[in-house]
Amino acid sequence: MKKILLLPGDGVGPEIISQAKKLIEKLRSDHGLQIETSEALVGGASFDAYGSPLTDEVLQRAKEADGILFGAVGGPKWEVLEISQRPEIALLKLRSELGLFANLRPVILYPELADASTLKPEVVAGLDILIVRELTGGIYFGQPRGIRNNASGEREGYNTLVYSESEINRIGRIAFEIAAKRQGRLCSVDKANVLESTELWRQCITELSARYPAIELSHMYVDNAAMQLVRAPKQFDVVVTTNLFGDILSDCAAMLTGSIGMLPSASLNADNKGLYEPVHGSAPDIAGQNKANPIATLLSLAMLLKYSLDEVALADKIENAIQQVLAEGLRTADIYQPGNKLMGTEEMGDAVLDYL
Ligand code: NAD
Repeated sequence: MKKILLLPGDGVGPEIISQAKKLIEKLRSDHGLQIETSEALVGGASFDAYGSPLTDEVLQRAKEADGILFGAVGGPKWEVLEISQRPEIALLKLRSELGLFANLRPVILYPELADASTLKPEVVAGLDILIVRELTGGIYFGQPRGIRNNASGEREGYNTLVYSESEINRIGRIAFEIAAKRQGRLCSVDKANVLESTELWRQCITELSARYPAIELSHMYVDNAAMQLVRAPKQFDVVVTTNLFGDILSDCAAMLTGSIGMLPSASLNADNKGLYEPVHGSAPDIAGQNKANPIATLLSLAMLLKYSLDEVALADKIENAIQQVLAEGLRTADIYQPGNKLMGTEEMGDAVLDYL
């Protein structure tokens, strides 16, 4: 039986993961989902209990799981800790230990929420982009790195942007395969005119495209991509890019949809095992107040069902239930507009459950 590990974490994490648990129970009892779930502490909650944001035991359970549903970690309480003990380290360690090199960030704007975007409704209504970000390489991990004194005695900070062919090819393959299941268009974003590492990126992606003749491949420099994302975002289907560019572009794209509370994500390894989590953080300002929007987490559960368990029909059921809830005008505070019905986290979870 497939194993799912739930890691609620800190802040709003436990509140939003609770809503996902309701859906899992329903899918198990009424829709034949056969999975084993277990739960563990992570982040600040784990530090408080065990003196470490991610214990070896929980890491081992994460390695044995087929999928991990993660809430969020962090908060002001733990900001005084030295970096190696901070809650956020748990996430970085899970990503590197599990080899989660492909970060999938869908950017979908439900037509009912078109008014919540800062862009004109006609520019964003019906938006459906998938950003594939390389997650374990590039400048965030390249060596050497540090702060040193240079020859004239001045301090200088330095980092290394490096990508090997194999790193580019494995993320490229995932992006082409996903594009094949969508509209068949892939845009690779780089800065090949200035950075040799992304000149190689462009060469590798171009070579790879020979194996995927049905996919329409285009290349775009990152500065232009940033501009196009806010000018005419619907031109994109799947976007593949490096760790740094993906970090920035996916947050920019996220804001096209109006609320961070609506955006799920997946981080996959070569065996399609994955960690699924909402894009947002632990939202300490609203934690414990039944205000957090659980939809990003419920959509993350849908991605888990689709990508790690191959339960595409059950994933569709969750997505359809969410769409119906939105069509009914039910909203948490972050996506509320006059005329809607305002709900808390629990009530929103129950509403999705009803439509399921
Ligand atoms: P955040 O995403 O937690 O919050 C930003 C804003 O968005 C806040 O106003 C918050 O109330 C709102 N928000 C977030 N999620 C929401 C939801 N589901 N529904 C409604 N509103 C929501 O980012 P931050 O404030 O920069 O960070 C807070 C803490 O979270 C920090 O400790 C940070 O390190 C951590 N963090 C964790 C992750 C993660 O676990 N993956 C990601 C980002 C930040």
